[in-house]
Amino acid sequence: MILADMHIHSNFSDGKLSIPELVDLYGSRGFGAIAITDHLCEENTLIGKAARYIGHTLTQATFPLYMQILKSETERAWDQYGMVLIPGFELSKNSVSNHRSAHILGLGISDFINADDDIITLAGKIKAQGGVVIAAHPVSTQKVEKQTYHLWDRREELAHVFDAWEVASGPYLFDEVLHSSLPKIASSDLHSPKQMTSWKTLLYCELHREAILDAVRNQNLEFHFYKSEVTSNDLRNGLDVYSMVGVAGSHALRHVLNSESL
Ligand SMILES: [Zn+2]
Ligand SMILES: [Zn+2]
Repeated sequence: MILADMHIHSNFSDGKLSIPELVDLYGSRGFGAIAITDHLCEENTLIGKAARYIGHTLTQATFPLYMQILKSETERAWDQYGMVLIPGFELSKNSVSNHRSAHILGLGISDFINADDDIITLAGKIKAQGGVVIAAHPVSTQKVEKQTYHLWDRREELAHVFDAWEVASGPYLFDEVLHSSLPKIASSDLHSPKQMTSWKTLLYCELHREAILDAVRNQNLEFHFYKSEVTSNDLRNGLDVYSMVGVAGSHALRHVLNSESL
């Protein structure tokens, strides 16, 4: 059983922490696999240009360094924590209309993709790199923020295009996705350490990158609510205190872990 979070932002887009800080945050808490998935916004839209102006998106200029750091941190995550770090990004199509906005996660990919293409082309380009394609927060996140409904509006047409649809991107389960027959994944969409308390995914597979991607594709997984207290000492000291409470749909409470050793 691998505790995993496959939707995490660093300060290469709008996250608060650097990639090494994220590796330490998750590695010190016993996670077995994480994916760093910074925003990669469209280049030709006004909102995409604004995101580039304020540094909230990967660009063709920053992308090589992003991948270089992910590569070196992949080695450190494994050596130091036995944690698999999967490179990825979140192709972000933002419009003033929630129904024209869509975020698409690509996991296990390392070549730049221009987000201006249409949805089906983008998914195809992720899969052509051997990646997993995930529909990010396709319904209301129940938070006060911009929503992205475009993929859900087209879910019948796009059902075969995505390997999984997020059933959570934070502390709330999405009922519409939960009760659908679509393949699912639960992640945090973490932008700051305060968001560690959220739904995550437990994967049933071997601890290496291809097995992890296959577990998502084949749905060898379940959803677990991960509860975490974060203190200001977390990043200074390397956090070694965590509690995890797991609930998976109608499954009974299965896992409660507690340890304190700060
Ligand atoms: Zn998103
Ligand atoms: Zn995100």
